[in-house]
Amino acid sequence: MKRIDRETVQRILDATDIVEVVGDFVSLRKRGANYLGLCPFHNERTPSFAVSKAKGIFKCFSCGKGGSAVSFLMDLENMSYNEALRYLAKKYNIEIVDREMTDTEREAETERESLIAVLAFAAGHFEHILADTEEGRDVGYAYFRERGINDRMIKKFRLGYSLDRGDSLLRDAQSKGFSDKFLLMAGLVAQSDRGLYDRYRGRVIYPIFSVSGRVIAFGGRILSSDKKKAKYVNSPETPVYHKSNELYGLYQARQAISKQDKCILVEGYMDVISMHQLGIENVVASSGTSLTIGQIRLLHRFTKNITVIYDADPAGIHASLRGIDLLLAEEMNIRVLLLPPGEDPDSFAQSHSLTEVEEYIAAHEVDFISFKTRILLEGVENDPIKRAGVVTEVLRSIAVVPNEVMRAEYVRQTSRMLGIDERTLALRLTKEIAAVAEKRPYSDEADTQPDAPATAAVSATASPAVTAQPVVSAPILTSVDRRRRQCEQAIVRLLLKYAMVQINAGDTPDESFSMLEFVASELETDEIDFIDPLFRRIFDEVVAFAGGEWKDAVANARVKADEVRRRILEEGHEKIRREAEGLADIEIREAQLAEEADAGYFATLDEALENISESTFLSHPDDTVRRVASDLIVEKYQLSKIHTKYVHVATEREMLPELVSRAVMELKYCVIDSEIAAAQALIKAMSSAPDADPAKIQALVADLQSLFQAKSLFAKRLGDRIVTQK
Ligand SMILES: [Zn+2]
Repeated sequence: MKRIDRETVQRILDATDIVEVVGDFVSLRKRGANYLGLCPFHNERTPSFAVSKAKGIFKCFSCGKGGSAVSFLMDLENMSYNEALRYLAKKYNIEIVDREMTDTEREAETERESLIAVLAFAAGHFEHILADTEEGRDVGYAYFRERGINDRMIKKFRLGYSLDRGDSLLRDAQSKGFSDKFLLMAGLVAQSDRGLYDRYRGRVIYPIFSVSGRVIAFGGRILSSDKKKAKYVNSPETPVYHKSNELYGLYQARQAISKQDKCILVEGYMDVISMHQLGIENVVASSGTSLTIGQIRLLHRFTKNITVIYDADPAGIHASLRGIDLLLAEEMNIRVLLLPPGEDPDSFAQSHSLTEVEEYIAAHEVDFISFKTRILLEGVENDPIKRAGVVTEVLRSIAVVPNEVMRAEYVRQTSRMLGIDERTLALRLTKEIAAVAEKRPYSDEADTQPDAPATAAVSATASPAVTAQPVVSAPILTSVDRRRRQCEQAIVRLLLKYAMVQINAGDTPDESFSMLEFVASELETDEIDFIDPLFRRIFDEVVAFAGGEWKDAVANARVKADEVRRRILEEGHEKIRREAEGLADIEIREAQLAEEADAGYFATLDEALENISESTFLSHPDDTVRRVASDLIVEKYQLSKIHTKYVHVATEREMLPELVSRAVMELKYCVIDSEIAAAQALIKAMSSAPDADPAKIQALVADLQSLFQAKSLFAKRLGDRIVTQK
């Protein structure tokens, strides 16, 4: 797929009417300034799904989903960013001008296209071998039948077979004109001294699909009992396949997952296929024991509710407990299901009816924290030291849960299960949370790999806090840092909405400055950085856009505003010439006119400037950034709606100068607070050291005092509100 050039993207976005786009999927009725309908993202009977034509956004007031037309298509129809744009272009008859790509880009693009083509060909080849050759039928097809897989599933998952001789695929591919280079790159053939040969010889083939249904990789299982050969051969990482960002079966399962708002996670290909065959279709496999952040993010697009199925193998369970912490940290609701001894999902599905399996799941799935507690407690009930270790382990898992309410609930449960006082547990949890916060990387790491795919594989021993990439959900922070992050969020939200808006309006561009300029200079003066990597990234991008792409838009806004002013003046002067009576009258009327013209100028300018940052971020190509931007921007829209319903409350825009300076001041206040906390900790540590140096401690105490002074100064300026704020 070629790249769409930026101008075309803008034209598509400009032409898009969100009411029309959403209206193709949801029936909408006009209600006041907005349109209302039943939310397509959750089940509801009374409509709480609102679409604002003017703002180009949708928002569900029940489930909280919200965003632009582009994100609507991406979320509902599982389109990629590019697919959504192309869909809109088609709808609005906009011809797509594919941007002239640089040589490197073109190479990368054609490389991807060639890989996709050769993979698609190979999938067809393997299917054909399975169905239409003697060896394919006698060995491959016979194997699947023996495992209880029917023809419908073979077709649905496009299962195949690779002949057990040197170069069947290679020759077929070469005869169709595919180049060796891409066959090698896709891992379909390999190089030996004697030349190229098929890599999957004598194996049954499981194609791996992308979410949109393209074959991007293969897994091949050997059927002979040759111990020297690997049981599985899998595709290497390629530009179209990043193992850690894919889930086996998601393409086939995605609709069922969305519909049931729940996903069942199993381990292997056969587990997925057998469950599908039984009629349980919301099943995917991580293809291995370790789950990655990339896979979790992918799932999160479809549901928050995961049930992990385990075979009753104690070693396997212990090894994978830690991996689950990652899911918890991503705010997933995790349940765990243990199968009867000796069963795996494949065998269990094959030997039971649909009702039996469904009933078993319903009766036996338990939340992860209870499960973990129970597993760890086994055999150590009477050993106080080991029991203490269990408490720590369980608290560590609870500590990564971002949601406070859920944490409290887990503490209650654990207290019951372990027979330990709830308050004692809560206190210890606070310490674990602080420990997690300490380990968590801040902006430094985000800096070194800004665009790196989240591929950190989760091994059983890896600490989730260390491997976790910046997340959308609130990371676990100390209370001071949490408040600081809230302040950062407030500033980022205002920036997303008003970055280019002039907050100190002057008559000429030189006299005024934008909200962004104000914030940037304030932060720079006090050397304040964002602690949340994602907020920092958005801030950096806003700065970059302001210095680049948005310049034209700002200039256009001024031209437009100038035109409005000129038109008002022209028409006004004309009127004055016709109607004025005497010089004094002319003077009064001209003064009035100048005011009117200014008002028109600023209103036009404001509206145009306000749109620049908003539209860029609501249609941002990065999923995470766009989601956060939509959430923040849409949240404000909801508030203003409620306020203005009854009475004119000063709008956020009207109060912007005050709001911005307050937000910046609150951030500074939080920064001082965290400096105080750090200084106090240092003093405490130094005082308790055996070789404490009184002079140094004295100096630190003096520092601390001046920090307290600065803090009270800020508190005064901010009023009492901040002091009582949580
Ligand atoms: Zn909803």
